[in-house]
Amino acid sequence: MSPIRILDPFTTNQIAAGEVVETPASVVKELVENALDAESSQISISFKKGGLEEIRIIDNGYGIVKSEVELAFQRHATSKIYTADDLLSVKTLGFRGEALPSIAAVSRLECITRSRNDDVGTRILLEGGRAIAKEEVGATVGTEIRVCELFYNTPARRRFLQSIAAEAARLSFLVTKTSLINPAVSFVLANENRKLLDTRGDGDTLMVISQAYGRECARAMLPLSGADDDYSLEGFISNTSWTKTNRRFQTFSVNGRLVKSRLLQEALEEGYRSLLPKGRFPGCVLHLKADPRKIDVNVHPAKTGVRFSNEKELFNFIEDVVRQTLQKRLKFNFFKSRPVSSRATLEEKETEKTSQGIISFEKNESSDRPFYAQVDEKPSLSALEPHTEYSPGGTGVEKSINEQDAEKRADYYDSETPIPPLTIIGQLFQTYILAQTE
Ligand code: ADP
Ligand code: MG
Repeated sequence: MSPIRILDPFTTNQIAAGEVVETPASVVKELVENALDAESSQISISFKKGGLEEIRIIDNGYGIVKSEVELAFQRHATSKIYTADDLLSVKTLGFRGEALPSIAAVSRLECITRSRNDDVGTRILLEGGRAIAKEEVGATVGTEIRVCELFYNTPARRRFLQSIAAEAARLSFLVTKTSLINPAVSFVLANENRKLLDTRGDGDTLMVISQAYGRECARAMLPLSGADDDYSLEGFISNTSWTKTNRRFQTFSVNGRLVKSRLLQEALEEGYRSLLPKGRFPGCVLHLKADPRKIDVNVHPAKTGVRFSNEKELFNFIEDVVRQTLQKRLKFNFFKSRPVSSRATLEEKETEKTSQGIISFEKNESSDRPFYAQVDEKPSLSALEPHTEYSPGGTGVEKSINEQDAEKRADYYDSETPIPPLTIIGQLFQTYILAQTE
């Protein structure tokens, strides 16, 4: 039998790396979170070979003071909490002091950083977690971290990874979602020299949605806002014509932290109940705020999961806010329906390529597809759909001409009968009732 002994720090960092650093995307997640915690307003991320050859992150945050650079790479070294009590009210994304030593343990890492309080920067090189060089360098305030040859010393982990393309996609997916929940920070993402994302950082969420997912998606978004005693929910949800076959376009933050949560997804979808065909999912960017004492983010070292203290109550709250938002918009938009003109076709589009969703009316005069109904100009189910006009540069939530017009018309109709007389002309997929009005 071997004697019991305490593991040396290199070994413990390797073990911790197994949990914190699973893929190139998890490296990016940790480093971007550090940049956000350092109050950066600009974060640039580039990578090569799906992040396996190189990941480079440059931020303009407050930097690491000269005397603490080496310490930052030691396990459980953090500037973010001091005692376990602080965990109850932690406001930063990091607090475990594990990311830098874990990443360094499984790569060759270079860090150049200069603190706001120093007039010179520091450059440190680590290999497999051991510092091999440290020197003073000229640098601007902020931090640059270059992670090369990830998992070079843990071949088993490397084999566990997916293809380079899949890892690149995972990494881009993560950065996109992070930029969506941090519209006030400018993110640049590049694969080799190809720019994948470049957000302005001016606080406009719809603009980020437009840049990440395209204008059609941004146009389909409805502003949402609601609060009760314990929670507040804010952001955007897609209208019922913009749907997808998966949940990739659902982004949730809880107290500013990007989370994956079955509960939040299901509550969102419950709010759409019966409004979406089976197998179709809405998109969203939603921010949940809650008393930190009601949630536990320390569920997993990577902190992507979250536990809520009162799940049923939270579920109902989200479902209600979503349903109310849709109800308000759906009803409202009946007034927006414009006169039906004479020539157009209804086209059914199941493909993901069309960001209009499952059904769209297309003005396609040469088509010989069945003629069901006609809608002028707007190529969508706009007569029945909630719709927010979006123009880049604006906040996207100002009232469009259409909405003002609709409000005038709303006055015209008796508030007891908010829906003008409709003639039902058919039903589609046992989901939509097609109707037209004068
Ligand atoms: P944690 O984020 O949990 O504190 P990390 O290992 O990620 O642990 O980072 C250790 C410490 O290094 C942080 O607490 C912070 O003080 C410092 N640090 C890391 N990255 C940055 C950065 N980009 N800018 C400024 N300080 C940083
Ligand atoms: Mg961290």
